[in-house]
Amino acid sequence: MRTFVSEFKDRATAKTADLRHRQFIRTALQGYETARDRRKGAFQSWESARQAAAETKWQAINHLDEHLVSLTRKLEARGTKVHWASTAAQARDIITQILRDKKARSIIKSKAMTSEEIHLNHALEEAGFSVVESDLGEFIVQLRHETPYHIVFPSMHLQRGEIRELFQREIGDAPSDNPQDLTMVARRVMRQKFLQADVGFTGANFAIAETGMVSITENEGNSRLTSAIPKTMITLMGIEKVLPRFADLALFLPMLATAGSGQSMTCYNTMYSGPRQPGEPDGPEEWHLVLLDNRRTELLADAEQRDALHCIRCGACLNVCPIFRNVGGHTYGTTYSGPVGSVITPHLRGLQSWKHLSNASSLCGACTQACPVKIDLHHHLLQNRRNASASKPAVFERLAYRIFGVVANEPKFWTLAKKFGWLVQPLQQPIKGTMLDPAKAWTKTRDLPRMPRESFKDWWRKRPARGGSSPARS
Ligand code: SF4
Repeated sequence: MRTFVSEFKDRATAKTADLRHRQFIRTALQGYETARDRRKGAFQSWESARQAAAETKWQAINHLDEHLVSLTRKLEARGTKVHWASTAAQARDIITQILRDKKARSIIKSKAMTSEEIHLNHALEEAGFSVVESDLGEFIVQLRHETPYHIVFPSMHLQRGEIRELFQREIGDAPSDNPQDLTMVARRVMRQKFLQADVGFTGANFAIAETGMVSITENEGNSRLTSAIPKTMITLMGIEKVLPRFADLALFLPMLATAGSGQSMTCYNTMYSGPRQPGEPDGPEEWHLVLLDNRRTELLADAEQRDALHCIRCGACLNVCPIFRNVGGHTYGTTYSGPVGSVITPHLRGLQSWKHLSNASSLCGACTQACPVKIDLHHHLLQNRRNASASKPAVFERLAYRIFGVVANEPKFWTLAKKFGWLVQPLQQPIKGTMLDPAKAWTKTRDLPRMPRESFKDWWRKRPARGGSSPARS
């Protein structure tokens, strides 16, 4: 029977053997790292900025109840319709009902990982709506019927030639593989879709409790068009996105851009405080904000791992992760991939089914070091491993470690084990990879290291000691 873990292993095995993919991703992420490190210089002290961001998010998350009440009161006072969704299914139902009430047929979307989290496109298409992604990367993966490869760069795994072929096949227009030409093709298609759309759908990067605003930051201007052209706008936002004060954006907007894409600021930064007010020239006539819990409050109740809710979805931890760089984004089989995905997915989707993600880590700590809000990611991976093992002990693994503990603690047993190892070592090559090989999973891709004929202890004993006496005997 196929399980999430067996699927993960198969995809990881295939991707790590794909040298072209690994080289391509490594080159792309190297460019990102250079840009990010240059932009960090714009901060007086990047480390102080990280500390300030971590403390602000700590305050935001530890007073989430008050901040959410303040946010919604202010938004509702200006006419925004705020909806609360406890689960993914509830969020899908709320959005589908709004679309039905508006007698909508076509929806134009800007980038929203929350919508990927609740599998919104699939649900809307099943219900008979036409949905078009307007972020270029999302538009490309939608044409390929794929999920985003990366939370910030959805189509970073594709080369320009592949995109030209895709456009030729799906749109019938791809003059060259020049990125500008391809962008113009996508823009022509999207402009028509914007004009036809009945409802615009967006995600959100931050919300401000103090002023009652939602902040969306983007590079293509598509999100602004999503809210400016259709008469109705729907925004889906995770409840953890709230910041206490408007002034906090002065830190978080440049920090998100720097950590996420190596920019000093993203190109378009928009604040939404409600639908179009009398006398205003633009904006949606009706705005619905759907606040998504989907087990975030369970994570909030976990004092040890609560800080995982501080995540601002910059993607920096993915970019520096040696596992992500080798297995790629689709291997995870989750909405949120890389270290942050491995930390939060077991909370969002179930620990036992997704615990393998916490093992797919070298625990090098590069993610923790890269995280702008100082989430202790690699320790959370260890905690997930501990929790998974405590809630469903792996009997054979425990037994094996217990036996190892006994052998390693008793010199007589250890010496015997060494002798046994030397005895069976010559069999290693003949049985490698066969049914008889007890280390088959390991030796499939690696060689077991050869045991040295002489242990360090034996060598030390035999070593001629200074002054004529052996240190072992002295
Ligand atoms: S965990 Fe940190 S580095 Fe990773 S996406 Fe979230 S904020 Fe960025």
